[in-house]
Amino acid sequence: MSPGKTSILVTGGAGYIGSHTVLALKRVGYDVVILDNLVYGHRDLVEKVLQVELVVGDTGDRPLLDNLFKTHNIAAVMHFSAYAYVGESVTDPAKYYRNNVLGTLTLLEAMLAASIDKFVFSSTCATYGVPKIIPITEDHPQDPINPYGASKLMVERILSDFSVAYGFKSVRFRYFNAAGADPNGQLGEDHNPETHLIPLVLFTALGKRESISIFGTDYPTSDGTCIRDYIHVSDLADAHILGLEYLLKGGDSEVFNLGNGNGFSVKEVIETASVVTGRDIKILECDRRPGDPPVLIGSSDKARKILGWHPQYSSLKEIVAHSWQWHQHRHQ
Ligand code: UDP
Repeated sequence: MSPGKTSILVTGGAGYIGSHTVLALKRVGYDVVILDNLVYGHRDLVEKVLQVELVVGDTGDRPLLDNLFKTHNIAAVMHFSAYAYVGESVTDPAKYYRNNVLGTLTLLEAMLAASIDKFVFSSTCATYGVPKIIPITEDHPQDPINPYGASKLMVERILSDFSVAYGFKSVRFRYFNAAGADPNGQLGEDHNPETHLIPLVLFTALGKRESISIFGTDYPTSDGTCIRDYIHVSDLADAHILGLEYLLKGGDSEVFNLGNGNGFSVKEVIETASVVTGRDIKILECDRRPGDPPVLIGSSDKARKILGWHPQYSSLKEIVAHSWQWHQHRHQ
């Protein structure tokens, strides 16, 4: 289907993965409306870079949604907005279930009322919990070990049930470690607080932090540090376009992992960042962070086969280099 006069609603479009997807949607020619409450999203990026309509509000605000669907011709919804701090989800689960589950259910009910039945959902490898088999495939048992993962799994369940009962079609993407930044330097990661490894390593290189803490050096891995599957955010954005078009062409509800298929250790990430930045990065070896599985690597063969997804930036060096370009510009 070619992009017509209809629009795509992107919730969380002012956030990290959402904003890169809006950029990709615009490049392909879609009209986009963003719904974002700007708790973590960035108005300046929407206004200066994305330049699409921004509706400020919550996905749990039913009157706002009803009005939005009445005043716009929305063909499909891509739903990125959610709280995503694993540690906070453990100490304040109510916040996560209210926003991530109730907020999403309200959005889905408003979509049903407006007869919009195509939905692309940001899920996570955190729904698998501690993996039993590596690489993780989509049929791996889902047994999340924190409320964040549980909140995403609950929405996945709602979506399967809606698919059966109402013919409501969804693509659920389970991301591994989203990383990197727009290769042209227009967008990137800007979380506050920042907890992710790659930005924190680069903040250390920039001199904004004394050192980078390595959470655990006694894991059963080759160098004792955790291994993760870092996937470039622009590759994630491309997968979302393919998922959207799959639904617009009449595809049935499906679930796909989105990862690189390659694992890199915390030490390898820090070494790569030293090479890319040409700077010394001071390391502090610390205790393990609770809830971190030693190895998380996903198989994305299904997305490659069914959606024809071909990640372009699978080298860690490129991922870190794009992040470095962004952080130098954002924090100068
Ligand atoms: N990590 C670390 N130091 C930090 C932040 C993260 O050693 O300051 C480790 C973390 O324990 C995990 C990996 O880096 O093994 C990736 O963590 P991140 O928070 O980026 O993503 P997660 O895998 O938790 O989604």
